[in-house]
Amino acid sequence: MKSNNKQLLKDSLNIKSIFEESENIIPKSNVFKSKEDKNKNDFLLGKFKRQISRICIFPVSNKENYSGNYDKYVQMTLTHIAQLKKINFEYALKDPNIMKDVPNFETEKNDKKQKKILLLDLDETLIHADFDEDYAEDKSVKYDTIIKFVTKNENIFENFEDEIEEEKTEEEEEIEHSVGIFVRNGVKEFLEEVNKYFDVGIFTASEKEYADAVIAFLDPEKKLIKYRLYRNSCINFNDSFTIKDLRILKGVDLKNVLLVDNSMYSFATQLQNGILINSFYCDRNDTELYNVLGYLINFIFPADDIRKVNEQFFNFQKVTNDLISINNF
Ligand SMILES: [Mg+2]
Repeated sequence: MKSNNKQLLKDSLNIKSIFEESENIIPKSNVFKSKEDKNKNDFLLGKFKRQISRICIFPVSNKENYSGNYDKYVQMTLTHIAQLKKINFEYALKDPNIMKDVPNFETEKNDKKQKKILLLDLDETLIHADFDEDYAEDKSVKYDTIIKFVTKNENIFENFEDEIEEEKTEEEEEIEHSVGIFVRNGVKEFLEEVNKYFDVGIFTASEKEYADAVIAFLDPEKKLIKYRLYRNSCINFNDSFTIKDLRILKGVDLKNVLLVDNSMYSFATQLQNGILINSFYCDRNDTELYNVLGYLINFIFPADDIRKVNEQFFNFQKVTNDLISINNF
């Protein structure tokens, strides 16, 4: 057992005694070691879930993140995030499911051409999918495209617990979905342009089947999106919101990673790596992607440590620290 792992187990008397006992009785083997790691990870993950279950947050809707309300949205969401300071989110990363789709960056490390990594959220950042058919009856708006995809579970957009329940209780049958999509102004030009400077990926809290269908529309030649991370790679906070913890990118220095998202909660664990963009639904006059593009090329691309430049611009970490000290969180 590594010494830092021992440290993590310091306050867990039960599991510590199990390990110490086992080490004496059973000779070390790879099989046993993996079982030991699994027990330890399950324990820490359980501890994390118990910790967050005691915190009740009614999240601010992404609909509140519009251009005239940006500062208010930032203030409200950072007040929530400030309250999470004592949570050890590293425990959540013990869930093997969270790492399942994460690329192996260690092997890419020797590639001298490796660029900074730009991760983009999908829903209400690049597109809006009209799942609730809010716009279906409105003759004045027209979808940019209809995407089709197949799932093995009808309610894939319900919360995580419901999905697990359904997987257990119902027989799997394939269900076809067909969803109207609004595309944010300039998406294709944006993707083409940022690819000249960054390695670009999608990091979405949506399910793989749906996200892959949207990506196939945005990048039909598979030239623009290098990485794909889905819902299983997000931390689910009590079904209230999801966090995209960038520490899942093992082997990547976080001074070189950036996430563009319309939800502040996505950045909760690395506020300095986040660019908060206004939520997009179907505004045909939206120019946000052009604004972000200018910022990325002029400020982020030349930076040695993107976190320093980004923090100077947005101050999310500073505002959060101030909220922590003012409110004594
Ligand atoms: Mg989003």
